[in-house]
Amino acid sequence: MNKHDSDSISKLLLDKGYKQTARIDDAHIILINTCTVREKAEEKALTLIGRLAPLKRKKPDMITGIIGCVAQEKGVNLLKRFPYLDLVIGPRNIYHMDEFLSKIKKVREKISSLDLACELTSFSKYNGYLKGRAARFVKIMEGCDNFCAYCIVPYVRGRETSLPAKEIIDEAKYLISQEVKEITLIGQNVNSYNAKNKPTFPGLLKELDDIEGLKRLRFTTSHPKDLSDELIGSFGELKTLCPHIHLPVQSGSDNILKLMNRGYTRDKYIGLIEYLRKTRPDLTITSDIIVGFPGEMEKDFEDSLRLIEEIEFDNLFSFKYSERPGTKASHLPGKIGKKEKQRRLSILQERQRGITLSKNRLLEETIQEILVEGPGKRGDDQLTGRTLGNKVVNFSARTNLKGQLVRVKILKGFQNSLLGELVDR
Ligand code: SAH
Ligand code: SF4
Repeated sequence: MNKHDSDSISKLLLDKGYKQTARIDDAHIILINTCTVREKAEEKALTLIGRLAPLKRKKPDMITGIIGCVAQEKGVNLLKRFPYLDLVIGPRNIYHMDEFLSKIKKVREKISSLDLACELTSFSKYNGYLKGRAARFVKIMEGCDNFCAYCIVPYVRGRETSLPAKEIIDEAKYLISQEVKEITLIGQNVNSYNAKNKPTFPGLLKELDDIEGLKRLRFTTSHPKDLSDELIGSFGELKTLCPHIHLPVQSGSDNILKLMNRGYTRDKYIGLIEYLRKTRPDLTITSDIIVGFPGEMEKDFEDSLRLIEEIEFDNLFSFKYSERPGTKASHLPGKIGKKEKQRRLSILQERQRGITLSKNRLLEETIQEILVEGPGKRGDDQLTGRTLGNKVVNFSARTNLKGQLVRVKILKGFQNSLLGELVDR
């Protein structure tokens, strides 16, 4: 979401005549987009803001701003703590960035804009900046009403707000006319998409699936408690919907899930996975887990270990619980020490590494359709892209196939990627 927001601001400003610089020293405006989901992300953002001080001393006319979730959380206090900041803009207010900049240039006064009730807009009219990318994000909703006990997102992204379906479909059609082949619908909780005049989320998927020229459709992130039978059915029905779902489970223990306010049990989650796999046997499934939530006993942690072994996720994003100000969990007893959280995380990640590797090896000798995204990390003649199941594949090719769908035979499965060879275009 943050990447998409940064891209949206760039598109807007380029459209208004601003230019991008290659070096930070040449810039007259620096905006830092920030994340506060865990403490570490916030620390990184604050360190980066500190680095603006010498730049501003050298160039007092420079405009500096902090945007996004740290801006929303800390608010105008940031203007006091970092006197060289000109702008503090929350994530729901980024759409007015050009107006803020014009005002500052005219009157040279500090601006904060932190209204969480702002309307959303799709930015579909500003598209030059990202030309040439075959896979693109489309925002369909923002905000979250779930209030999971550990999570700061509902406080900094505001209430769930959905974009009208027409705007989403128009943006998708425009992107497809610009050679985009894959669209990922994004939102904090996409499956509670709820636009005023319908459709429901599965209905929206169906409308997008019908657009001529779209090859691949994805969405992220979905919440297990809102994963309806109709949505699961979409995986068996829609021709463009890719066989991958990211379905964060957070814990394998019913006690902890309850404390987290997740709204489902371990059995309910396992049932959803079974139904998903029955509907679409080639589905890849990824998830998020938190270790060391307040009150997590050894037995609860072992429940999480057993769950990942039982389900065998293709990949897992795992985090140490990080206390966030104002959340329910920050007042819970039974805080787990730093060292213990690290111990649990290491054990969990070690188990998952084995599972991910064996899942990737299962794909050896199979033929996969890849959407080529560009040159691989190794350079030379290596290209990189993703399978329908969202796994990264590197392969050699003499010609530039960027943006094309090709067929690749998987030669080897590694921990983080697959190695393949081109079969045909
Ligand atoms: N809306 C998405 C998640 C957004 S945050 C969902 O509900 O699935 C992305 C991930 O960060 C979460 O899934 C969770 O695993 C992790 N996370 C959020 N708050 C956290 C915290 N306080 N400490 C550690 N991990 C956290
Ligand atoms: Fe945070 Fe829960 Fe909302 Fe996801 S669903 S953004 S974890 S409150």
